[in-house]
Amino acid sequence: MAEMFYDDDADLSVIQGRKVAVIGYGSQGHAHALNLRDSGVDVRVGLAEGSRSKAKAEAEGLRVLPVAEAVQEADLIVILTPDQVQRKVYAESIEPHLKDGAALFFGHGFNIRFGYITAPESVDVAMVAPKGPGHLVRREYVDGRGVPVLVAVEKDASGKAWDLAKSYAKAIGGLRAGGIKTTFTEETETDLFGEQAVLCGGASQLVQYGFETLIEAGYQPEVAYFECLHELKLIVDLMYEGGIAKQRWSVSDTAEYGDYVSGPRVIDAHVKENMQAVLKDIQDGTFAKRFIDDQDAGSPEFSALRAKGEQHPIEKTGRELRSLMSWIKPADSDYTEGTAA
Ligand code: NDP
Ligand code: MG
Ligand code: MG
Repeated sequence: MAEMFYDDDADLSVIQGRKVAVIGYGSQGHAHALNLRDSGVDVRVGLAEGSRSKAKAEAEGLRVLPVAEAVQEADLIVILTPDQVQRKVYAESIEPHLKDGAALFFGHGFNIRFGYITAPESVDVAMVAPKGPGHLVRREYVDGRGVPVLVAVEKDASGKAWDLAKSYAKAIGGLRAGGIKTTFTEETETDLFGEQAVLCGGASQLVQYGFETLIEAGYQPEVAYFECLHELKLIVDLMYEGGIAKQRWSVSDTAEYGDYVSGPRVIDAHVKENMQAVLKDIQDGTFAKRFIDDQDAGSPEFSALRAKGEQHPIEKTGRELRSLMSWIKPADSDYTEGTAA
């Protein structure tokens, strides 16, 4: 059984004794900065000159500084910019200003695991990785709950990095839900695998294929949308509450029988072999290199794939239908339909 941490296992005063610089104020950055601040931690936000998120952070009463100045003031720096820019931000604006005895924190292990960032020997390197989107990390905290976190220490220079990491995890609300002890390697590889094979890649492709199969057979797109996308949330909610077993308990016997006989026909053994190949590319760095090389070239492949995804007919059908569903209220005001920014 994995080692788990809860609120009683961590001392909030450890992180309250630190000066924290949160670098980046996006999905995770805003949630960490605000949750830390509301937990009584001394927080400043570090952003590049001309940053779009500066006004948002200042509207919340946070102090915003250029990254280098935020790092100079701080003794704990948490890097929450997109993974693909972390290496540059680190080399240019963080490393030259890191104090001996400071701590470097991450929300995902990508740059440490694949060697894009190497911290000095005297610095603690740790990770508190929420297992949920940043907007939920903030929303749950405000509601008195939390999103579970993975906690890891890559380098315990001070001998006290675990106490610090657990304290940080408590301050962002993660230990209300539970923290799991892991390593940078395990977090990075399983996170990439989960999002590629199941959560994002697998689920998106499954929904698209289902929708395409129905409309190519002449069924109405609106009906196909409900069957293949809209209802997925209801099924996933049941799995979340009680596992696959509760989903099967709740659906009709017809649906449950169809699950058993047709599920393995659609997702057959070959799919598992594909998943193993995807995992291998993650483990040996092939995926990381492809992603970072494309980003360094101005992201031609990424941009083309994003545009192609947005043009899939399910998006048009979905936009029209959701505009009629008054009960679906977009909770995230900074997301605009049709712009995957
Ligand atoms: P976002 O894309 O939301 O981060 C955007 C923020 O980073 C903005 O404030 C942006 O500023 C700033 N930024 C971008 N480039 C730079 C730069 N060169 N210098 C300084 N600031 C910059 O990131 P996420 O929150 O998605 O991801 C952050 C980390 O958290 C990653 O390591 C990710 O893997 C991890 N993570 C993310 C999850 C999520 O929910 N998204 C879940 C779990 C982990 P501006 O507004 O000016 O563009
Ligand atoms: Mg991820
Ligand atoms: Mg049905």
